[in-house]
Amino acid sequence: MAPKDLINKQMRTRAVHAGRDPEAATGAVVPPIHLSTTFERDPDGGYPRGFAYSTFANPNRHALEAAMTQLEGGAAAVASASGMAAIAGVLSGLSRGDRIIVSYDLFQGTARLLNDQGRQWGVEIDVVDICDLTQVAATITPKTRMIWVDSPSNPLMRVADIAALAEVAKAKGCYLAVDSTFATFALQKPLALGADVVIHAATKYISGHSDVVNGLAVFGEAGHLYDRARAFEINVGAAPSPFDCWLVHRGLRTLPLRIVAQSEAALAVAMALEAHPMIEKVYYPGLPGDPTHAVATRQMRGGYGGMVSASVRGGREAALATVAAVRLFFRAASFGGVESLIEHRASSPIQTRGQGTGYVMPEDLLRLSIGLEAPDDLIADLDQALNTARRNARVSGGQ
Ligand SMILES: *Cc1c(COP(=O)(O)O)cnc(C)c1O
Repeated sequence: MAPKDLINKQMRTRAVHAGRDPEAATGAVVPPIHLSTTFERDPDGGYPRGFAYSTFANPNRHALEAAMTQLEGGAAAVASASGMAAIAGVLSGLSRGDRIIVSYDLFQGTARLLNDQGRQWGVEIDVVDICDLTQVAATITPKTRMIWVDSPSNPLMRVADIAALAEVAKAKGCYLAVDSTFATFALQKPLALGADVVIHAATKYISGHSDVVNGLAVFGEAGHLYDRARAFEINVGAAPSPFDCWLVHRGLRTLPLRIVAQSEAALAVAMALEAHPMIEKVYYPGLPGDPTHAVATRQMRGGYGGMVSASVRGGREAALATVAAVRLFFRAASFGGVESLIEHRASSPIQTRGQGTGYVMPEDLLRLSIGLEAPDDLIADLDQALNTARRNARVSGGQ
């Protein structure tokens, strides 16, 4: 069956239909989950439907990869068992002696991977401020093979200029990889801005319901990086399960609507926090005073994302007291689901110190994932929690 004509359709239309042709055998509009690990050969030994063994390819993964290729405007995609597996697959395109440029606020999982297996593989790491283009350009050597950027970054929500980084990368003959987990394809299109590969922890917004771990990498060309990522996935057995692919593919259909609503709510929360006497500083690219607001406005469409960080007056104790007092937010790691989450990152066991980029998580920082609750309810919850923290500080002798 011919793929649906989705060219020139708006994002929310494309997200509903991408990779969704009725199943040929039954006409099912919702695809079945194909649990079979193996597929029959024809009498000549061929595989007439293109499927042989489930770790190489299976129908649910194939449909998800086709959808993501369309939605990111790429040439090919690899779905993996987790965001980290997708990242490892992309990094496996590097060879011994190659250098990679990363930012000091690189996602901590990527930093751990580079400092552990990356060093074992012989990849050298250069740490910069990725928002400082002069510094990035000055750090490139003939050995530099890749520039890696998370935009927005975690947990400082800094937005890097992807088009400008792509220009620098192209001029020096290295790849630009963009971890677009915080923005998703609904708000940002790194490949159109010149990136070579875009990576998502689909665990977060793309699946959107905090119930599946999955990773996606979409490539501008079906060339070296794609070949290595596909080989990595097959060779190490990082293939995602058919059910996980089915869940992610279901989730992405509502992503454009979810993340626009979450972005609107996040902006309202960020503005309310900025006005609260217990808050020292808010990190959100949608705020006009944010240092990366101009780049974000140029680069992102439809909103600035659903993630907000804030520093609480009174340091670690006040931050922990605030988290302890919330009634609506869940105290939990991760993000991108329909329920709002709040986390004190510095005390999270998932957070490791000394990750190798020199960045230390601030003790007064809270990170919020804004869900789909009414913004006023979320703001009221944060207000009462911050006021409780302030009263506690007064009682224990603070100001
Ligand atoms: C969560 C996350 C990852 C890793 O994804 P997993 O599915 O947890 O392996 C990678 N990059 C970013 C920016 C993330 O937030």
